[in-house]
Amino acid sequence: MIAPPGWIILPISLVIGSFLGVVINRLPVGKTLVISRSRCESCGHALSARELIPLLSFVFQRGRCFHCTAWIGWFHPAIELASLLVALMVFWVMPEGWGIWVYAALGWALLAAAWIDARHYWLPDVITLPLLLAGLVVTWLNAPWAIYDHALAVGIGYAAFRLLDLLYLRLRGRHGLGQGDAKLLAAAGAWVGLSALPGILLMAGLLGIAVALPVALWRGQGRQTMIPFGPALAVGFFGAVLLANLSH
Ligand SMILES: [Zn+2]
Repeated sequence: MIAPPGWIILPISLVIGSFLGVVINRLPVGKTLVISRSRCESCGHALSARELIPLLSFVFQRGRCFHCTAWIGWFHPAIELASLLVALMVFWVMPEGWGIWVYAALGWALLAAAWIDARHYWLPDVITLPLLLAGLVVTWLNAPWAIYDHALAVGIGYAAFRLLDLLYLRLRGRHGLGQGDAKLLAAAGAWVGLSALPGILLMAGLLGIAVALPVALWRGQGRQTMIPFGPALAVGFFGAVLLANLSH
């Protein structure tokens, strides 16, 4: 079966981005994701199709509700642009074929998970566990000989994080890393294999420190500041996947 031209993913990514916005807003509060009409958060006015066009509606309405002119906020255009950025990166690495859809889907799932973690310090199992499974399936289809290595990476990735967390608990008397972080690293292992795990951890660690330091200084709470590690881990994960496909 011939894959559709790769560039089609770019406009589609904006629509996906607006769906991701729904996921990020509704998943943590346990609301249903199935089609229920989006409404203005201020006046409750049900949004029509022309008010739901990604980015364009925001630009034409200057970020305000068509009805009550309440400020909509940056969240929706930001998630739509982030989704486009994910598609652009994948498109750049692989301009055609079915792979672009697989890796973009991975990127979008990571984007949603990272955003939720940044807001709620929570990486949902409904995202990380299917990602883990998908990584093994994609490996099995693309490179069946690597399946043992990737399966081992799942176990080692998970165990390494749990161990770090136990150490942290001993030293500091509280948990430093979440169960979700361990599952996300395990999922990364499923996609990229054992040899890529140290690079992901290094990248995520550096990113985490780069974000945590200024935040800690600004808040002045020092070591008690809680920083979600998921976003940094997601960036390292996605970076490693793109790199692996670049070098092919
Ligand atoms: Zn309104």
